[in-house]
Amino acid sequence: MNKFLLFALIINILSCKNTEINTHTVRFAGEIVNPTSEYVVLMKGRHVVDSARLDGNNRFSFVLDSIENGLYNFQHEPEHQYVYLERGDSLLFRLNTSDFDESLVFSGTNEVVNNFMLELFLADEQVESDMHNTYYELGADDFSKEIEKLRTEKLRYLDEVRSESYMSDKAYEIVRASINYTYYRFKEIYPFAHKRKLRETVVQDMPTGFYDYRKDINYNNEDLVYLRPYYNFMKSHFGNVSYMTCANACDTNGVAIKNHLHFNKHKLRVIDSLVKTKDLRDNLFRNVAIDFLLRSHDIPENNALFLKEFELVSANNAHHNEISNLYHAVQSISPNNPVPQIPLLNFKGDTVKMADLSKDRKTIYYFWSSRDKRHYENIFKRVAELEGQKVAYDLVGINIKSDPNEWKGIINTYNLDTSKQFRASDGKEVTEKLVVWPLNKCIVTHDVVIVDAFSNIYNRF
Ligand SMILES: [Zn+2]
Repeated sequence: MNKFLLFALIINILSCKNTEINTHTVRFAGEIVNPTSEYVVLMKGRHVVDSARLDGNNRFSFVLDSIENGLYNFQHEPEHQYVYLERGDSLLFRLNTSDFDESLVFSGTNEVVNNFMLELFLADEQVESDMHNTYYELGADDFSKEIEKLRTEKLRYLDEVRSESYMSDKAYEIVRASINYTYYRFKEIYPFAHKRKLRETVVQDMPTGFYDYRKDINYNNEDLVYLRPYYNFMKSHFGNVSYMTCANACDTNGVAIKNHLHFNKHKLRVIDSLVKTKDLRDNLFRNVAIDFLLRSHDIPENNALFLKEFELVSANNAHHNEISNLYHAVQSISPNNPVPQIPLLNFKGDTVKMADLSKDRKTIYYFWSSRDKRHYENIFKRVAELEGQKVAYDLVGINIKSDPNEWKGIINTYNLDTSKQFRASDGKEVTEKLVVWPLNKCIVTHDVVIVDAFSNIYNRF
């Protein structure tokens, strides 16, 4: 017998027994240049697998005795990225936080699949903007052809890489899915993006065969639940299918579709009928709920109706608390409710209540975070502009993230009026209670009553 075959056979026998000598152990280690936190946390879906502290040389290492082969996620706050791990792996990475994804390089076993996935991830932004700048304008048949061309090019490249270096079947399938769902998603978006691009009044019917790939969709692949292209595909897909269902079944002139409650009920039902995998179901239902609650705050009664529907299809949702908190927050800041008694810190460090700040006057509260320089520079510019227009409001800034010294430093650097700047002592609490999303939102109050808690600082006042 050939020596290699014999060796392979022995390895095979060894790994089939449960008492093998740690050939299953996974070593995952690395170095982080310019760390932004002390830890690296390894996650599988929503669950923490393990966490490791950086040593004096900014290195960390995980030794994992029995983990499933598949897609993981490592976090180094505030960033995160995928990592694909298999039993017996010994994988290293190095990254610099000042250029997180671009600086990341994997080496060791399974470096090929990990670097390939990273390459796809980095190319995403370009592909996305190509779609918006060029492809969505095309007619449906031409668009289909182009998408097919791009998709098969990527798949061919993957096969080429695989023919030169080892990639397990599972790893291959995950990368393949990553490519496929990226391009399938563009087709789900196409009818709407095309309409917008060409300023058409109705969404066109797609030619026969346009959605042929849908017969290959796997709604219940546990390995893909946390794969971004797969999840993003699902969101766009269910948006598309719900729209078409509504347009065909209950609508003749688009009125029903524009009704958020009605449309989102469709979404809940479509997801309910097709997705069985609990994690994917929970995540998709959560997405619909958050989207609805953040966008349809103008009719508070509808929120209660929506939540009832939501609980009907997703009673044990893993994100139930988050959604219920958001629901209560949105309700409590709907128009005519009192301005919340949230404690804030003024420039001197004294605690003041938000509601007291706007007593007897008209106020606009805007938000900023010291972490996002471009954003706060724009916001300060906008606030100065509004002040120049002598709007009838006091403009009050609330910082939701920074340490006190950093915050004071920025206020001084930009010459802001210290009497109008406040800091959240608990940024998370303020963000949740005032539903600070997006960061450009602002809250308009009159005396101690809320006028509009979902306005935007770039609106006219
Ligand atoms: Zn409908």
